Amino acid sequence: MSPAPAPGLAIAVVGGGVTGMAAAETLLREGAAPVTLYERESSLGGLCAGAEIGGLACDRFYHVVLPSDRETLAWIGGLGLADKLVWSRAGSGFYGRGRLVPFAGAADYLRFPFLTWSQKIRLGWGILRAAAIRDSSGPAAASSEAWLRGLFGTAVTGKIWMPLLRSKLGPAAPRASAAFIWASIRRLLSGRRGPAARESWGALRGGVRGLAAAAEDRLRRDGAAIRTGCRVRRLELLADGRIRLETEAGPAFHDAVLLTLPGPEAGRLLPADAPGAKLWSGLEYLGLEAACVLLQRPLSPYYVINLLDESLPFTGIIETTNVLPPEEMAGRHLVYLPKYRPGAEDSAGGGTNPLLLLEGLKTVFPDLRDEEIIDVRLQRAACVQAVLPPGPSDPFPPEARRPLPGVFVANAAMITESPSNMNAALELGREAARRILAERAQRESLNREASGRSASSG
Ligand SMILES: Cc1cc2nc3c(=O)[nH]c(=O)nc-3n(C[C@H](O)[C@H](O)[C@H](O)COP(=O)(O)OP(=O)(O)OC[C@H]3O[C@@H](n4cnc5c(N)ncnc54)[C@H](O)[C@@H]3O)c2cc1C
Repeated sequence: MSPAPAPGLAIAVVGGGVTGMAAAETLLREGAAPVTLYERESSLGGLCAGAEIGGLACDRFYHVVLPSDRETLAWIGGLGLADKLVWSRAGSGFYGRGRLVPFAGAADYLRFPFLTWSQKIRLGWGILRAAAIRDSSGPAAASSEAWLRGLFGTAVTGKIWMPLLRSKLGPAAPRASAAFIWASIRRLLSGRRGPAARESWGALRGGVRGLAAAAEDRLRRDGAAIRTGCRVRRLELLADGRIRLETEAGPAFHDAVLLTLPGPEAGRLLPADAPGAKLWSGLEYLGLEAACVLLQRPLSPYYVINLLDESLPFTGIIETTNVLPPEEMAGRHLVYLPKYRPGAEDSAGGGTNPLLLLEGLKTVFPDLRDEEIIDVRLQRAACVQAVLPPGPSDPFPPEARRPLPGVFVANAAMITESPSNMNAALELGREAARRILAERAQRESLNREASGRSASSG
């Protein structure tokens, strides 16, 4: 466990993922020390942390950067890692009806076998119309399926979009608002020059775990007290305005706290009667199980294979060593097989039998032989994707963002203009830090006014 933080009133950030690290960085840059960052795991990073497979280090989950991710690119540059970024046009593929086909450029779009000519025109036109929508209130108010049918028609929605949506939201897909799929289309296009153009992916040598490690080092150098291996269990607002955190290492006292945890975890920490606590506790989330497979040889030329065959035990095939040079994995090849599902737990191992996943992989790649599979590891995370039902475009009222005086919440559920991504998490963390500082400045100015009044009356 890391050393205890500096004594005295201070700001706490709970959760050391990208959002928490960005918030702590901003607080320190604005001179708000001391800042203490609490993380239950042994290192910072959250979904961007590291893992191990076949004796090699790898990322817990696959990550790429898009050319439009300005905050992420600036963060990478600011941490001195710009030379580790490699750009790739590995493209994507689709698997359905026993066929694996490319979907990486205009020619592939024209040859795409799963749609008729008129459906292809409808798909391209619908994507352009979806991308032109700037205001999220329309998609947020509609159910996904109804919104997709309106833009793409019944056939394209049934053949393409609903399988893709179910691959991300599983059984929760019918309950979700269309904001998620609208935001996903926008992000998809931000990596391309048109609906049928090839994407550009940026990947980091050393992985996003290297990025998280560099950010952790800089936070320590800038004076943050980083308490890893320290889960926060409860939060209580004291009569004197301070906030008491019950942590695994004992109680700690702060004058402002930012929770960057998924909704249900934030809801568990807050007092049950705190405004907003019920909203956070009751928010529906999907977990994720992702098998990480280390192979002797590449499977395909694609970074992502989208699956239209819903009988497979995973919902995508992501071949990381098509965007990162295989020497990153000692010449081996790394593939992730994710499945979003309710009720996954936070752990490595457990969950779905990896043999079942490998059988599924052999359905797509029948020539894959057992001796070519070096290792398989399952990574699991309990809350990775919030499922927001149709409603207002911002379903989080002020009391959910600031449930108590001095207590703030910022988590990926609040990212509604794009699917959760590092760029948006950086913006979210920084914006939350600025709200904390604004409230603190307001409180200090009120205190100064009050002490000025009492001095003049005395
Ligand atoms: C499979 C997958 C692929 C992705 N691919 C991409 C991609 O290609 N590009 C991209 O930009 N983004 C990608 N993302 C999204 C990106 O990882 C997230 O947007 C970002 O990591 C969210 O960071 P966060 O800090 O909000 O959440 P988290 O990373 O979940 O951080 C929350 C932290 O809080 C800690 N915590 C929880 N409870 C407690 C407690 N009680 N006390 C103390 N600490 C606690 C957790 O351990 C965790 O470290 C991907 C995500 C997933 C799941």
